[in-house]
Amino acid sequence: MRRSVATVCLSGSLAEKMHAAAAAGFDGIEVFEPDLVASELSPEEIRSLADRLGLTLDLYQPFRDFEGVGDDELADNMRRAEAKFAVMNRLGIDTILVCSNVGTATIDSDEVSAAQLRQLGDLAVRYGVRIAFEALAWGRHIDDYRRSWRVVQLADHASVGLCLDSFHILSRGHDPAGIEDIPGDKIFFLQLADAPALSMDVLSWSRHHRLFPGEGSFDLPAFVAHVLRAGYTGPLSLEVFNDTFRQTDVERTAVHALRSLVWLEDRARRVMGEDTPLLTDVTAPTGFDFVEVKAENTSSIEVLLGQLGFAFRGRHRSKPVSLWVAGDARIVLNEQHARDLAPHLSAVGLRVADVASAARRASELMAPPVHRRTYASEVPLQAVEAPDGTQVFFGGPTTMAWTEEFGDGADKMTGPVTAIDHVNMAQPWQYFDEAVLFYTSVLELDAHSGVEVAGPRGLVRSRVMSSPDNGVRLPLNVAPAIDESAPPAQHVALLCSDVREAVRHARGRGLQMLPVPTNYYDDLEARLGLDPSFRHELEELDVMYDRDGNGEYFNAYTRTVGQVFFELVERRTGYAGFGATNAPVRMAAQRR
Ligand code: MG
Ligand code: MG
Repeated sequence: MRRSVATVCLSGSLAEKMHAAAAAGFDGIEVFEPDLVASELSPEEIRSLADRLGLTLDLYQPFRDFEGVGDDELADNMRRAEAKFAVMNRLGIDTILVCSNVGTATIDSDEVSAAQLRQLGDLAVRYGVRIAFEALAWGRHIDDYRRSWRVVQLADHASVGLCLDSFHILSRGHDPAGIEDIPGDKIFFLQLADAPALSMDVLSWSRHHRLFPGEGSFDLPAFVAHVLRAGYTGPLSLEVFNDTFRQTDVERTAVHALRSLVWLEDRARRVMGEDTPLLTDVTAPTGFDFVEVKAENTSSIEVLLGQLGFAFRGRHRSKPVSLWVAGDARIVLNEQHARDLAPHLSAVGLRVADVASAARRASELMAPPVHRRTYASEVPLQAVEAPDGTQVFFGGPTTMAWTEEFGDGADKMTGPVTAIDHVNMAQPWQYFDEAVLFYTSVLELDAHSGVEVAGPRGLVRSRVMSSPDNGVRLPLNVAPAIDESAPPAQHVALLCSDVREAVRHARGRGLQMLPVPTNYYDDLEARLGLDPSFRHELEELDVMYDRDGNGEYFNAYTRTVGQVFFELVERRTGYAGFGATNAPVRMAAQRR
């Protein structure tokens, strides 16, 4: 299908937006009127720029407060409309979005609105223009697509049809299944936006918090499937008002936007049972292959890993890179091209069923490939760059051929650490939603709903990405960016069979875990009714504790080195959380 984007989604001037949309690979754009009004380019220049860029101009929008008005108002609205039709002729745009009246409507009557739209349709014919009528969720009288469709039916004019906008329909909880009863050729345009579940007034929700498909909580694949089953053949077009996207780099946001549409079209085709999906099939990764920490000097991390029970497995045969292993947990320390860099998480290796398919899907979704210099004898690596710059490597389901490049294979260490449990990635605030789409679309991870945790310097937004069997869990966090000199910490959580034993083991090697205050244990004992001797054992070891209906969670933290710290975790029975109630205490302790 053709893909389009409203210029309101992007930052910059109209010309910059057009260049970025074309470079990303969009077929067309919706011209948002304020972008035209502010442009120094004439309509004819915009038209020829679009021609040069290979973009179609698919929609002129919006035209507000037209119908449901008295005669004087209508005459003035017809005059306004005619001026816009003339501009559309100069631009070469044949469809205009007319949204339901929110401000000046005085007559609550389908018949009156229909008659006025019919009159507008007659005028539109003279300019070769079509009217796409949209029910805004906050329209004064017409706020439901079923009512706008009734009005369009009553108008009974070949040049008057509907614009459907997923936000206006799904934000109100209206059942989109009824769309299938609308003849496809009367759906003149389709606008798509996702949004997080929020309880706030629908106008503010729409103007500030729309998201690209796949990033919020609407079921957009099912929505698009209804529209396609109705017989709609126009473009899939994004109309996303979002304060963050309008501040980010226009070229990057355009690619991000297109990725969401490609993902959505693929999902919608699957919902419809088509046997020609757009994207290569992959299943979610099954586990962590490795985590890489990069720094100019990784020796302080080496000390920490040794204290946690990791064994030095060897140095890479051709690079300043070393491998540390504990059970099934592998940590790579990389000093290559790391001048002046403090320790930070630079790469995550994931085990996937089929490396070639994973790489192909990533490329179909425009994930930037990572180029690492390899040598003839080395295993070629397939990797892509996540929005925050973390490199994500695809490793085979079991093959760890790359580990053969390190030394000559010391035996697996049998210590308290058995595997990597989760990797907590701090995200720059402006890339958080893009990261959610990246991990769900490229890797087929599930995005859990967001939570907010109180940190010492503001709320930390958090969303967990996980594989269905929890083999891979990636909590994404956004910390308030108050202190640029202290970037938010990232951490690797290491699964242990017994955290208390692991802490004693680390202590024996001189590692003091992050001290946890007595107040925490007082509260824990009161909250959960803990046995005092159990409480004292936890307190003595600085081990935190949580339990839910499924099971128990024990965890303890190391100090932060550079941007990185480690967590020891133990999960008893079905505990699937991350000890979120402990996080504020941990963050306060780290700040001390
Ligand atoms: Mg709209
Ligand atoms: Mg954690």
